[in-house]
Amino acid sequence: MRLGRARAIGLEGLRGHLVTVEASLNDGLPAMTVVGLPDASVNEARQRIRTALSNSGCAMPATRITVNLSPGELRKVGTVFDLAIAVAVMAAAGHLHAGAAEATVHLGELGLDGRLHPVRGVIAALLAAREAGIDRAVVPAGNAAEAALVQGMRIRTATSLAEAANIHGANLPAPQQPMVSARVPERAPGGPAPADLAAVRGQVQARWALEVAAAGGHHMLMIGTPGAGKTLLASALPGILPPLSEEEAVEVAAVRSLAGVFDPETGLDRTPPFVAPHHRTSPAAMTGSPRRAGLMAQAHHGVLFMDEAPEFRRDALELLRQPLESARYSVDRAAESATFPASFQLVMAANPCPCGKAVGTGIGCECPPMARRRYAARLSGPVRDRMDVHLELHPVALKDLQDTRPQEASADVAARVRRAREAQRRRYQGLPWRLNAQADASWLRERYAFSPAEIREIDEALRRGLLSMRGYDRVVRVAASIADVAGRERPTREDLLAALTLRHPEATP
Ligand SMILES: [Zn+2]
Repeated sequence: MRLGRARAIGLEGLRGHLVTVEASLNDGLPAMTVVGLPDASVNEARQRIRTALSNSGCAMPATRITVNLSPGELRKVGTVFDLAIAVAVMAAAGHLHAGAAEATVHLGELGLDGRLHPVRGVIAALLAAREAGIDRAVVPAGNAAEAALVQGMRIRTATSLAEAANIHGANLPAPQQPMVSARVPERAPGGPAPADLAAVRGQVQARWALEVAAAGGHHMLMIGTPGAGKTLLASALPGILPPLSEEEAVEVAAVRSLAGVFDPETGLDRTPPFVAPHHRTSPAAMTGSPRRAGLMAQAHHGVLFMDEAPEFRRDALELLRQPLESARYSVDRAAESATFPASFQLVMAANPCPCGKAVGTGIGCECPPMARRRYAARLSGPVRDRMDVHLELHPVALKDLQDTRPQEASADVAARVRRAREAQRRRYQGLPWRLNAQADASWLRERYAFSPAEIREIDEALRRGLLSMRGYDRVVRVAASIADVAGRERPTREDLLAALTLRHPEATP
C-alpha cells in the first residue's frame, strides 16, 4: 500500500477547519473511492479529478485508490477539495514530493482540462491554516489578490493542476508561477469614496445628528420627505467614521471573499463598508447561506443603510434582531449551519407616510389616517426601539439652496469623530464595551452623577410615561456622545435635553 497526504480547509461560514486528505493505493481493479464527502459531491469529484489528472499529463494510477477526508464528522461540501485530493493521489503514486504536499494547504476547484478555478472564502481558509500552524499554501491564481492579504504565509499560486504539482517537485509541462509576496496596494486615492458632507446644503441639525451617531456608534432612524437628502447623508457616514484597523479590514475582506464580491483591484480597503439593500431584497440575500456571506455580514464594521425601511418585507426586518442584539447571526440551511459577524451601524430611512408629505405641519398629506398608522407600525417594536437617534428631516430651505458658501467637509467632521472615539477609548479602558452605544447606562449615570437640576426634564419624561427605562438609558448614552463630540468631559443639562430630542422628538418639553 502506498500513501499520500495533502491538506485542505473546510469552511463553515468564516470558520475554517484543517482537513487532511489521505490517498492510499492498493492492489486491485482500478477504481476510486472517496470517503468523507457527502454522496452527491463524491461522484462529481471523482470524475473531475480523474479527467483533470489525465489532461495534466499524469494518468491516474491503475490500482484501487481510496481517498479519505478527515476529520470525518466535519461536513465537507463543495469543490474546494479537488486540488488537495488530486495532489494526495499524485503523492501516493510518487509523482511529487510527499512531505511537501503534506505540509501544504491546497485550495481550488479543478476543471476537466486540468485548470485550477478560483474559489470563494480564500482569506478565511488561509487564516484558519495559519491558526492551525501550517504556513504553506497553494491557491488558484485567480485568488492571488485575496491570498496576499494574509500575512505570515508562504503562498504559491497556480493556474492548473500541473503547475500546482510542479510546486511540489513534479515535472509536468506547465509554466512556473511566481510566489505571492508583495502586498496588494491599498485603495488608491480617487477610487470610489463615500459621499462628502461638503455636498450637503443646509440641514444643520441633520449633519450634527449624523456626527453624534458616528461618534457613539448609534443606530439612526431618519424620517423625511422624498428629496430631503436622506440617502446623501447616510452615504456620507462611512467617510466620517474612523478608518478600519488592519485586522478589521482583513476581516471585511474575508467576508467579501466568502460573498464572492471581493474586488482584487481595491486590495485592502480601510473604508468602513456601506451596504444599502433595496427594499425588495429577500431575507435569503440579507443572511446569505452557510457558504456565502449575506448582506448583513458584508456590512460588518460598517454601515447597513435601509432606505424606505417600512417597505422592506416584515421577515427581512425581523432578521435584524439577532445582529442588533449580539453583533452576529447564524444561518441554517439543510444540514449546514454557520455564524457570521455582523457588527454594523444601522441607518434606516423612511417617508413620514405613504405619500411622503406628512412632515412638519403635514399640509398636503392626503393619506387616510389608517394608512398612515399602518405605515408607521411597520417599523414599530424591537427594531425601532434600538434606534438611538431619531431624526426628522425637512426639505432643504430655499435660502440654504442659494447659499453658495462652502459647507464643512467630511474630513473636518471626521476629526471631531476621531477625538470623540478617543475620549470613549479612555473612558472605557478595561471595560467590556468600546462605544457609548454599547455602554452600560447605569455605569454612565454613576460616573456622571447628574444633579437633580441637570436631569429634571428626563426624569419628568420618564414619570409621565413618555420615556421607558430603556429609552432613558439610551438618552444618557446619546448625551455622552453629544458631550464627546463637543469635547466636554461630561454631558450638561443641555446635552441631555438635546439627546432627549434626538431620541424622542415627541417627549421633549
Ligand atoms: Zn401622506
